[in-house]
Amino acid sequence: MPTCQQCGRQWTWQQTLRRTFTLGNKMKCPHCNQNQYISATARKRLAIFNFIGPFMIISGIASNSMIVGLGIGVVLFALAIIMYPYLVRLANHEESLW
Ligand SMILES: [Zn+2]
Repeated sequence: MPTCQQCGRQWTWQQTLRRTFTLGNKMKCPHCNQNQYISATARKRLAIFNFIGPFMIISGIASNSMIVGLGIGVVLFALAIIMYPYLVRLANHEESLW
């Protein structure tokens, strides 16, 4: 679970997920109200979730069934939502990916 780099307190799973759905890269810490950003390393790690869509289409084609593709997609999406807060790491400023 992510730890605020300003106050050092840990965010809960629910707090992390709720803050993820805000627009932009800035997230306010629920404890100290300071802006936090997802670290570059964590963003690279989280990029794996972008493959859920294509994987869903490929498994749908491979199994020749849209239902199987959709089913796999739903399961992967649920897993991504559950796992996401565990993979997030915070930084005090916006880090460049390169
Ligand atoms: Zn904080």
